[in-house]
Amino acid sequence: MEPDRAALCLDVRAVAPDARERVIAHVRAVYRWIDGRVDRAARSAEDNGCRACGRCCDFEAYDHRLFVTAPELLYFMSTLTPENLRAMPDGVCPYRAGARCAVYEHRFAGCRIFGCRGPLGVAEQAALTERALRCFKAIGHHYGLPYVYTDLKTALKGLHQACKP
Ligand code: SF4
Ligand code: SF4
Repeated sequence: MEPDRAALCLDVRAVAPDARERVIAHVRAVYRWIDGRVDRAARSAEDNGCRACGRCCDFEAYDHRLFVTAPELLYFMSTLTPENLRAMPDGVCPYRAGARCAVYEHRFAGCRIFGCRGPLGVAEQAALTERALRCFKAIGHHYGLPYVYTDLKTALKGLHQACKP
C-alpha cells in the first residue's frame, strides 16, 4: 500500500530548524559509520567491489529495490534545491547520470552498503543494513518524524507531490 503522502512530506518547513539540523547531523554520522565499515572491508578484500557501472540503480532491470527512511529523506531533501527534487517515472533512479550517481555524497544507506561484488558479503550487507535501520528508526522516533520505510520510487513520488512549492 502506498504510504500517506502527508507522512512523506518531510519538507524542511515541517520540522523545526534546530531538530532538522540535529537529524541531518545524525544521518551524516550514520553514513560516515557505514562508509568506514565498507572502506575497511574493501581494504582487506580481494575484490573491493563496485565498478560504478550504474546497473543496480536501474531497479527494474536489476530486480533490486532501495528502501529509504524518514531521517534519510529529510537529510536528502536538505541537500537539494526544490527544482532538483525528481519523481521516478520508471524503474531507474532519477539521480543516475549516465553510469554515475549525481548525488553521490548524499546517497542513501542502501546505496552505500549494496555491492554486487563485495567488499561485503550478502550476510554482512544484511547485518549492516539492520544496524543502520535501527539507527534511523531511533533518530526518527527521537525527533518525532513520521515512520517511513518505503522504496525510493514511492518515496520520491510522495515527496514530489506533497512537498512541491
Ligand atoms: S554495485 Fe555492482 S551493479 Fe552496482 S554500480 Fe557497482 S558494479 Fe555496478
Ligand atoms: S542515489 Fe545514486 S547510488 Fe543511489 S540509486 Fe540513485 S543513482 Fe544509484
